[in-house]
Amino acid sequence: MALRELKVCLLGDTGVGKSSIVWRFVEDSFDPNINPTIGASFMTKTVQYQNELHKFLIWDTAGQERETFSTLKNWVRELRQHGPPNIVVAIAGNKCDLIDVREVMERDAKDYADSIHAIFVETSAKNAININELFIEISRRIPSADASPPSGGKGFKLRRQPSEPQRSCC
Ligand code: GDP
Ligand code: MG
Repeated sequence: MALRELKVCLLGDTGVGKSSIVWRFVEDSFDPNINPTIGASFMTKTVQYQNELHKFLIWDTAGQERETFSTLKNWVRELRQHGPPNIVVAIAGNKCDLIDVREVMERDAKDYADSIHAIFVETSAKNAININELFIEISRRIPSADASPPSGGKGFKLRRQPSEPQRSCC
């Protein structure tokens, strides 16, 4: 069975539940006293999707500023401009278990996601709602392996800058 690596980067405000989403997906558990992420953390999980194995390589970042639904739009603009052409954007409206303190109306988030062709799901890492579905949806949206250009085609190679000093480690 073919193995594909899917790179996922979680972006968003500190405290919205990014690490909890990853923890729920990878370990199927929830820690209400989860430690704040320092720098970034990296986890992987492999799941079968149709006749392929999808290995999610997940970078969980430490957001440093207070961000809001409106600054989400800045992230998306940056990704569209500087990200790879086939990037899949998924918006998770997390903590959907906290129904009494909702900050963003589902309709507004859904309309925005539709307007940028992004996945949108309301999730709860706490109650395990839609976490697997979020990643399955990403699998579904990734262009099939047959559609990918052959290596050496339109891709580009990252090279070390000639001026960059060589490091002995890391
Ligand atoms: P991050 O800074 O975005 O990585 O957020 P964390 O994963 O560290 O979570 C921040 C806080 O929100 C923690 O106290 C979590 O227990 C809590 N939290 C995360 N996801 C949920 C959720 O789905 N529901 C509720 N009620 N709390 C959550
Ligand atoms: Mg975190």
